[in-house]
Amino acid sequence: LMQLSIPLNFIGFVYREIRQGLTDIEQMFDLLDVPAEVVDRPDAKPLAVASGAVRFDDVRFSYDPERPILKGISFEIPAGRTVAIVGPSGAGKSTISRLLFRFYDIKSGAITIDGQDVRDVTQRSLRAAIGMVPQDTVLFNATIAYNIRYGRPDATDEEVRKAAEMAQIGTFIEALPDGYRTMVGERGLKLSGGEKQRVAIARTILKAPPILLLDEATSALDTHTEQEIQSALDTVSRGRTTLVIAHRLSTVIGADEIIVLKGGEIAERGRHEQLLSAGGLYADMWNRQREATEAEERLRRARETD
Ligand code: ATP
Repeated sequence: LMQLSIPLNFIGFVYREIRQGLTDIEQMFDLLDVPAEVVDRPDAKPLAVASGAVRFDDVRFSYDPERPILKGISFEIPAGRTVAIVGPSGAGKSTISRLLFRFYDIKSGAITIDGQDVRDVTQRSLRAAIGMVPQDTVLFNATIAYNIRYGRPDATDEEVRKAAEMAQIGTFIEALPDGYRTMVGERGLKLSGGEKQRVAIARTILKAPPILLLDEATSALDTHTEQEIQSALDTVSRGRTTLVIAHRLSTVIGADEIIVLKGGEIAERGRHEQLLSAGGLYADMWNRQREATEAEERLRRARETD
């Protein structure tokens, strides 16, 4: 019976999510490991976003009771500002983004958006308010226009083109023989990681959510692509409350606050320059990454001149 009940539960869960009109397939994939206990309260109200200020207040969380993952995390993202979370692998960075979406409920503390606890609002309204640019974007076997329009199905052709331009992928698309009608995905044109990420950014520009969650790709991009993506991300995050889960430190330089997470605790916090001159964990990470990037660039240039 146990074996049967889990898949049934799971199918029911997926069905509910589809029926609720969930618009991001990436989110759907993330949802796959959501425990079914996270349900709306009977009196849940839709989230009323005023300015989009996000607050974590002494948040404690563990996936397994024996192993605490977040050990009392507090920070605030004032409306329209950007906070970046950095730290070693396994520190709990992605967990923070999952908790903002309320994929899990926390053990103690509170997570609020404009003063409303995420546990008190409908999950549907919560997820509608947060736009996500994920590490890996899933593309449909459809035209590139369809893939971008997915962010807002009623967007006009002109709006789709505009979003693509802002995401720095417009020129690339227009150079394709079939332009916006080019088929992409498994059975169509294969896009690189950086191109896929820009499609995700274009989708998010169309969706225009008040709160933005950027989960950066771990994979190394060449400096040029990285700069293009960075400028696309700057466009989409302007004026929006943004939480960046950062792997590449170049994206955090401009953040209003950088939180350095280590073993589920905040080890350091501040702006880029402050943390660099503090000479601690962040400064170490920064120096190591810069050396690695420089070595990669040297290698790439050497290959190009061969
Ligand atoms: P990375 O930089 O490698 O992506 P991270 O800082 O984002 O790491 P998290 O993904 O938040 O780290 O994971 C924090 C810890 O929680 C890890 O030790 C991980 O093994 C554990 N963890 C993550 N997801 C689950 C899960 N679904 N069940 C149990 N443990 C989990």
